[in-house]
Amino acid sequence: MSVCCKVLLPLPSAVMHLARFPRVHLAHLPTPLERLDRLSAELAGPEIWIKRDDCTGLSTGGNKTRKLEFLMAEAQAVGADCVMTQGATQSNHARQTAAFAAKLGMQCHLLLEDRTGYDDVNYHHNGNVLLDVMHGATTEIRGPGLDMNAELEAVAEHRRSTGQIVYTIPGGGSNATGALGYVNCALELVAQANERSLCIDHIVHATGSAGTQAGLIVGLRAMNTGIPLLGIGVRALQEAQESNVYKLATATCEKLGCPGVVQRHDVVANTDYVGQGYGIPADDTLEAIALFAQLEGILLDPVYSGKGAAGLIDLVRKGQFTKGQRVVFLHTGGSAALFGYTHCLDRMTAADKAHV
Ligand SMILES: *Cc1c(COP(=O)(O)O)cnc(C)c1O
Repeated sequence: MSVCCKVLLPLPSAVMHLARFPRVHLAHLPTPLERLDRLSAELAGPEIWIKRDDCTGLSTGGNKTRKLEFLMAEAQAVGADCVMTQGATQSNHARQTAAFAAKLGMQCHLLLEDRTGYDDVNYHHNGNVLLDVMHGATTEIRGPGLDMNAELEAVAEHRRSTGQIVYTIPGGGSNATGALGYVNCALELVAQANERSLCIDHIVHATGSAGTQAGLIVGLRAMNTGIPLLGIGVRALQEAQESNVYKLATATCEKLGCPGVVQRHDVVANTDYVGQGYGIPADDTLEAIALFAQLEGILLDPVYSGKGAAGLIDLVRKGQFTKGQRVVFLHTGGSAALFGYTHCLDRMTAADKAHV
């Protein structure tokens, strides 16, 4: 626990007072909470709702913006003139960091890992990569399988030796500071649900670097909502994913001053929808993208939200979520990546025209 928190947190009742932490207010909040009538009817299961964190406003939006509100405030506090982060080639986090840095007048340098091995011009130059460049960020490419956070620190150290003040953000913005953005999202979502007397039975979302799920579960548990949360994995196996989330949730509890509020069994991930690997859409990913696009006019992405939605759809079909329940799908964004995945999506539009 930081010294700051020790001084500022004499009472457990201060736990959810997030204004104690520095924050740059840039996201368009609250994001809408909407009912998906046509998708719900098509699946004939629970009432499906969507929390539109694809609409956070910054450079086509997405979930990293909430985390960056807290992370970039720390960067400002240390007087950084450069922020650095890392991610996959089509990283939404890298793009949102580049946009945030532009807004705050900081340099942004990105390390991009080629995880998929795709040899496609749009994958390497369009979508998020195009937007990174448009926001003025510089990029370096790395091959797959390296310790990318270690690579990041090595490059940052080199820049520091030349006199720059560099603030590094871990992949996905997933540390206890970034997770505060999703503690805040839990507060926001529960307030919206209470206002309209929407009793939520389950929340489902795509989980990757763990910050979104960790922040949400801390917020949901600290408020004692009793709402279960399910992360649909996009990369790691279940045990690894759940333990990553739990570790970060524990650190986030420490930061907030509510140690022990999240227990291991509160953290649930289903990693059955990863397919061949990170960043490679499976057939059910493409079907989910088609269903949301053609029934609801909503754009999912091929790396995260498409897999999260594929999990939701399959679990409805299998009867894990049933009629009479209300399930909220948290849309974490990512539509900019669609333009880097034209080589996969052409296949989708041919196969899934039946849903029009
Ligand atoms: C990063 C990301 C996620 C996963 O969030 P984590 O906090 O990394 O687990 C989900 N969806 C999209 C679109 C993302 O960019």
